[in-house]
Amino acid sequence: MTNLNKKVALVTGGSRGIGAAIAKRLASDGASVAITYAKDASAASAVVKAIESNGGKAVAIQADAADVEAVKSAVEKTVATFGRLDVLVNNAGTAIPKPFEETTLEEMERVIDINIRGVFVTTQAALKHMNDGGRVIMIGSAVGERAVAPGLVPYAATKGAVKMFTQALSREVGSRGITVNNVQPGPIDTDLNPASGDWAVPQKAATALDRYGHVEEIAAMVAFVAGPESSYITGANLTVDGGMNA
Ligand code: NDP
Repeated sequence: MTNLNKKVALVTGGSRGIGAAIAKRLASDGASVAITYAKDASAASAVVKAIESNGGKAVAIQADAADVEAVKSAVEKTVATFGRLDVLVNNAGTAIPKPFEETTLEEMERVIDINIRGVFVTTQAALKHMNDGGRVIMIGSAVGERAVAPGLVPYAATKGAVKMFTQALSREVGSRGITVNNVQPGPIDTDLNPASGDWAVPQKAATALDRYGHVEEIAAMVAFVAGPESSYITGANLTVDGGMNA
């Protein structure tokens, strides 16, 4: 695949899980890829090495999505390294599963700062560099549309906000030829949401396909939305959830 040749992508939270799969997929489609990470430099450098050993170009940048200045500087470093920015994937996100009434203010703020404020700030910084054909892609969640289980109240609320952010922003940047879309995963087997254990049982049972998804199944949708064939799709919430919200 070469339909992202000469394009530059920034994937936030690209060192593990869904973000790492997206980074590898966009690189194999021809894009030069910058990834951010919060803590795990060795995981981030493993993703860069995997892309480079496949003939691609990649760079890893430490930037906590909750740190406004770090996020802005990650966007500038991406442009300084690769000369432009065509695709932003707002993937960094977190959940702190627990009953709402036991959730502390600090925990609520952490989820909001990463899942919403980080997305706003990164997108604003990236839009300064985007031109016709630009792509802003959120990784929302199927629970941003339908809350299938208890324990995810602030998380679901932030992903609902990401959904409306996508729709509203698409109205502002459409005239510049930039599309804005929200890929909404269902249960995907990652460190954040492992397919084994008690927590996984009701999630798996809620899917029509009776299984967790794989990170590559989200990366495939992101690659399509990042590519030229999705040119008339914007302001859309694209659910990839094995039928969980059916
Ligand atoms: P993981 O926890 O498995 O991976 C998270 C990645 O993001 C890591 O690379 C991590 O790097 C990075 N990261 C975490 N916190 C921050 C931060 N504050 N700033 C920058 N980078 C950060 O998560 P998933 O891959 O499962 O989730 C990715 C996205 O997909 C999230 O937005 C999540 O809400 C969404 N999602 C996931 C679902 C699932 O079932 N897995 C379902 C629906 C949505 P480091 O190790 O350095 O912290």
